[in-house]
Amino acid sequence: MTKIAITNVTIFDGSGTPPYAGEVLVDGNRIVSIAQQGNYLETGDARIVDGHGAFLMPGMTEAHTHFSWNDQPSLSAIQFMPPEEHILWCVRVAKRYLEMGWTSALGAATAKPRLDVVTRNVIEAGAFPGPRYLAGSQEITTVGGLGDNTLPHLPFEEMNFGAVCTGPEDMRRIVRMFAKYGVDHLKINLSGEYIAGIPAENNPFSQEEIAMLAAEAKLAGKRVCAHARSNESVQECIKHGFEIIFHASYADEKTLDLLEANKEKHFVAPGIGWLINTLYNASEYGITEEVATQMGYKRELEAASATLTEMHKRGIRILPGGDYGFAWMPHGTNARDLEYLVKYVGMTPMEALLSATKLGGELMMRPDELGQLKEGYLADIIMIDGNPLEDLSLLQNPEKILMVMKDGEIYKNARTLLPPRGIIRSIYRGNPLAEAGARKTQATDPMNSKQPLEVQRQRDH
Ligand SMILES: [Zn+2]
Repeated sequence: MTKIAITNVTIFDGSGTPPYAGEVLVDGNRIVSIAQQGNYLETGDARIVDGHGAFLMPGMTEAHTHFSWNDQPSLSAIQFMPPEEHILWCVRVAKRYLEMGWTSALGAATAKPRLDVVTRNVIEAGAFPGPRYLAGSQEITTVGGLGDNTLPHLPFEEMNFGAVCTGPEDMRRIVRMFAKYGVDHLKINLSGEYIAGIPAENNPFSQEEIAMLAAEAKLAGKRVCAHARSNESVQECIKHGFEIIFHASYADEKTLDLLEANKEKHFVAPGIGWLINTLYNASEYGITEEVATQMGYKRELEAASATLTEMHKRGIRILPGGDYGFAWMPHGTNARDLEYLVKYVGMTPMEALLSATKLGGELMMRPDELGQLKEGYLADIIMIDGNPLEDLSLLQNPEKILMVMKDGEIYKNARTLLPPRGIIRSIYRGNPLAEAGARKTQATDPMNSKQPLEVQRQRDH
């Protein structure tokens, strides 16, 4: 197995303790030891990545991902991409996420039935690079609901962004179909969405349909994610134990009490970037601030900011990510969410980083081995040029993301991968100055150093 030691770094380990100087040793796909505060590790035959003082942190988790969204300005435009191009798009986007430091992601609904499942499978098989991925179903919706994109004179199911449910029995069929396809979780649109012409506070599903989803998901052993902007829809999530709540903008005091009482069960991925960017950043596509305000997005952003701030105070788990892949918030810019969590939700930069790392491990259902830099944990590690705790926007800049390791494998590295230092250590033991000199010599000796792996630049935005 490959051993890699990452030396000379400031370590943010995702536990909540302040960053410290240190070194990390990876063996195979696990972190085997961490040295703190200037101590050295016995790195043996490990190859070395010298961080030159860079910031090392756990890879991030995107909690509400749509790989199949193709940076278009409408759901129909996304859906019109033919399946062959669409799956290629998905694997290409997955690589982009990984290179931007997202080593895990949770699929928040796919535009065609099997895109998410196939993308997850080819990543897991090692055929294409991408984050660890939990695959979602299509958005389950109602006739005329968010994601029913057919036109009266063109009633072709293939035009639909979502899986359109026509009653409790049809819900049973839909859940079983997606379970057959191998999804990790189901996704339901419990509330409306202004841009689709359906007010956010609409609740289109019947009680019978929602109860059927809950029962069938339980039988299939699948978690449920819900697009839930209205107060009632968040209440339904709590009532039925739907684990992952998207948006939650209009949850009222009573609903927050219920959520707080059940906070060990639920994650909230608000995707607040969608509200902000649709309101302030979509005028190029005809959605000026005035238009977006008329739609309802200003009112919703104000409500969401107040609700989420209160939620955060109550210790409810809020995670970054959501609805990137639209024209005015393209894939790869997802780390904007960390700044939004500070500005609109009242998190400290430390809390925002923890929500992207430690909470990510919990969301991925691997809290004991993912989301932190700890001995025994999976080696999902990123290296940043600069300190994100002082400037979270560094995480939006591909050139500042110096190294990405997932499962012990390096996918991106702007540093030199050096040969083992064990021999140097034994020669110069006890003489740090000589050792530093020797390491420098080693790094610049063309016979000993390998070419740095190419830094993949973001070309698309
Ligand atoms: Zn979404």
